[in-house]
Formats: sequence, C-alpha cells, structure tokens
Amino acid sequence: MKIGYHWLSGTRGSPETVSSLMEPKVPLLGMYVNNGIKSVHPHIPAVTRFAPSPTGYLHLGSLRTALYNYLLARNTNGKFILRLEDTDQTRLVAGAEKNIYDTLKWCGIQPDEGPVQGGIHAPYRQSERKHIYKEYADQLVAQGKAYHCYCSKERLGDLRESAMKLKPPTTVTYDRKCFHSHSQTSDEQPVIRFKSPEKYDKINDVVHGILDLQPQYNSEDRRYDDFVILKSDGLPTYHFANIVDDHLMGITHVIRGEEWLTSTPKHQALYQAFGWTPPEFVHIPLLTSLKDKKLSKRDGIMGVLSMSDKVLPEALINFVALFGWSPPRPSPGESVSEVMSMDELVEKFSLDGLTRGNAKVSNAKLYYFNKEHLHRLAKVDEKVVELAETYDLTDDTEYMARVLKKLLPSMSSLDEINNYKYLFTIPDYNTSNAPPNCKAVLMRYAELEYNVEELIKEFKKKEVFQSIRFALSNGAPGLAIPEIIDLLTLEETKKRVSTCIKKL
Ligand code: GLU
Repeated sequence: MKIGYHWLSGTRGSPETVSSLMEPKVPLLGMYVNNGIKSVHPHIPAVTRFAPSPTGYLHLGSLRTALYNYLLARNTNGKFILRLEDTDQTRLVAGAEKNIYDTLKWCGIQPDEGPVQGGIHAPYRQSERKHIYKEYADQLVAQGKAYHCYCSKERLGDLRESAMKLKPPTTVTYDRKCFHSHSQTSDEQPVIRFKSPEKYDKINDVVHGILDLQPQYNSEDRRYDDFVILKSDGLPTYHFANIVDDHLMGITHVIRGEEWLTSTPKHQALYQAFGWTPPEFVHIPLLTSLKDKKLSKRDGIMGVLSMSDKVLPEALINFVALFGWSPPRPSPGESVSEVMSMDELVEKFSLDGLTRGNAKVSNAKLYYFNKEHLHRLAKVDEKVVELAETYDLTDDTEYMARVLKKLLPSMSSLDEINNYKYLFTIPDYNTSNAPPNCKAVLMRYAELEYNVEELIKEFKKKEVFQSIRFALSNGAPGLAIPEIIDLLTLEETKKRVSTCIKKL
C-alpha cells in the first residue's frame, strides 16, 4: 500500500454483504442473482485486457494477471485484449515486448486483439495513441475539469519537500497555483493536471468489497491530489491512458494486482469526469514466497519463459491459476482435483472462486503439477511427438518420442532427460568405476551371442547386470537393462559392448 493513503474500511463483495452494497454513490455493479444464488461472476460476455508495461520480462505475477483475464473472457465467450502500456519511455527494456508475446504464446494465452493480431481498436501500443489522449485531455481542460500547469521542476520539488515536513506528512503535494492563475506563468512546456475531487468516492472491488481510500491531507496546509494526466512531452501518464483505453476498448472487467488498488479512486474520478461507466475492478492478492516474503529471483520472478526447459506450460498455468482462485466444489465437503488443463480452467473459472489472502508460491507444488501433467501428456501420442521436437538431443524425433514415452511417467522436470544422455550418444566410459570382472563378463556375453540366461550360469547375477549396465550407460541407474536394449537396439548394444571391452 502506498504511504499517505488511509485504508478506511473494507467489506468483501461476497453474497453475505449484499446489503452493504446499497451505500450511496458506490456503483452497484458486479452482483448477479442466478437461480437465487448471488454471484459476482458476469452472465454477459466479459471484455478483459492484459496491459503490461514492457519494462522487464514477464514474471509469475503478470502471468497470473494475464491468465485470469484470459480465463474470464473465454469462460463468458467474451474477448481478451493485449495492450502495451509503453508511455514511460525511460523504463522500457529491450526485448521485453517480444518476451511478452513469446511467453503468452508458449502458455497458450492467445489474445483476440493486440499489437500482433490487430483489431478494431488498433493501435494497441499506447505510444502510438498519443493523439487520442491529447483529444481527451483537451476535452477535460475545456470543461474546467483539468488545467495546464507551468510550474517549474524546482517549484514542484520545493512543494514536495515542504509536504514531507508537515505533521502528518503527505504525498499529496501540489498547491493548485496554476489552477487559480489561469494563465501561462513561465516558458516551461506545460503539463495537464486533473482537478481532483475534494474527496474521492468509495470504490467497489469484486474481491475487497467497498473501500474508502483517501489520500492523507494536512488540514493546516491544504494540498491537492491534482495528478498529471498529460506530460510536457505530450505523452499521457499511466492513470490517464489506462482509463481512456479501457473505456474506448469496451473493457468490462479489470483484473489486476492489488498494488493498483490505491490508483482506483483516481481512475473512478476520471470516469466520472467524462461521464463514462467504469468497468468492474477485481484486485487480486500479491504473490509471496512460502515465508511470506516478496518473491525472490529463484521463485520465477525473473521471466517465466526461463522455466521452459524444466516445466510444461500446462503445469505452469495450472500452478499459477491457483494463486488466488480455487475451483468450485461439487458439493460441500466433496474434494475436487486441482490438476486441470487450460480447457478445464476455462470451464471452471469464476470470479466467485477468487480469494483474498496473499498467494504463496511453492516450487514443490509446481513440480507436483509438472509430474501430473507429464503423466497426462505421456498418454497422448501427438503431444509426446510435439514435446520430442523441443529437445535437441537427436534429430530423430521418432526415437526421441519413444524415449519420452518410457521416461515421462517417472519425470518431474523436463531437464531430467539430461540424466539419460547415454540414450543418444555412446558414453565416455569411466573405466576406474567399472564393476568387478567387467571385461571377462562382457567378453563372454559377446561369445554367448548376447544371451543373458546363459551368462548368469557362469557369473554372479550382480556382476552380469552391473557389467552390462556399465557397457550400455557407464553405469547410470534409472531404466531396466531390457528397456535400455529395447531403446538402443541390439545392434547398438553389440557396438557398445565391444567398445567398452577395448577401453577396459
Ligand atoms: N501497465 C500496468 C502494469 O504494468 C497496468 C495496470 C493495470 O492493469 O491497470 O501492470
């Protein structure tokens, strides 16, 4: 929560609190009655959006935001829009935009409209929509709801400093000088400020219910939350571009992280200034590590695409879906499987299943889902072939698929295949680790035409199996010897036995 905001009250917009929604001035959105059951899930097609700023690689938190918006749109036969909020040119990171597209594609989250797909609301990069924001900012200025501000950086800096010295201090710092002067007071390129209301209206959030979020003022030295909507370079600020686009793109539901909750009163005030109906707001809880700490790099805050060599997208999506949502139980007390494909998630997703507490990220759980989804995948031949194509251990996709079919049911990470490199290249024998009697056993094995039955009549069983395993895999455990021979073929087995004998 930002400093300087009062968290005055909160009631969850759940069925029990329907009467508290009857307070004046709070838009009565988001409550439907279906067969006598009160629900916050829309019964009309929802238009949602994912609006990332390309300032870094897409991490777990953003992926969840994208996913919930996508699931809501698909569940209600609505639309899912991708919009790039790239107006803060100083924070742009090279490669971040491409990473967003690649990650969504890998995860199977396909936008209906966006910078790549195009669509009726194009362009979808805010940096290409400058003229639109200017038109709307000018409209507010003409109506006296916004004004040009010529104050210098120094003056604004002094105001900020003096505001911090107030008791209590306040992050609302501007004194409205330019609103009162009504004229150009310096040669600075002006910014446009929104004339904020005396008091912000309460907001109604689907997860948090009704909230009264006000900036902290100091009554002795009154300042104003007249935030900038258009910067001196002509680019809009986040708040302004965000609401103009949400309105023009017909967004019905804004699902985003809780860190945006304190911006929502500002957004609502802007909607009111234009006379527009705001969308429904759905603020989802923060992601924390199991110890309730902010996520560290190891927890996938880096970029989720970097996990693609370990986990299936199906598993990651399943894992992420449960950070703040749970599937409905068929009846009270009855358990429900947490392992779900994207199609199952789409079918089961409902705003009624959202939860409020911080969502804890556990790597163990991710690998549990990965194991479950690898198991599911192993049963579908085409999927196994698709996965086989993603590995570069061999050019022989058919062989790779056969290997995967054997290994998948026991794997929990995709990179475990690295323990089976001997299935693709002849091992580099570490002869000092050879089991006792290895050379003699292998020579006899060849003489007996690779007949193990006969071989165990002459040597100890343990010696036989350890020696053959050594020749085939340099002693690596995992698969049973007949399984290895079956995969490698008898011809390759013979080759390895004779190479190994020569090395010993
Ligand atoms: N551009 C904002 C972000 O990077 C969007 C916040 C919102 O969804 O309103 O998260």
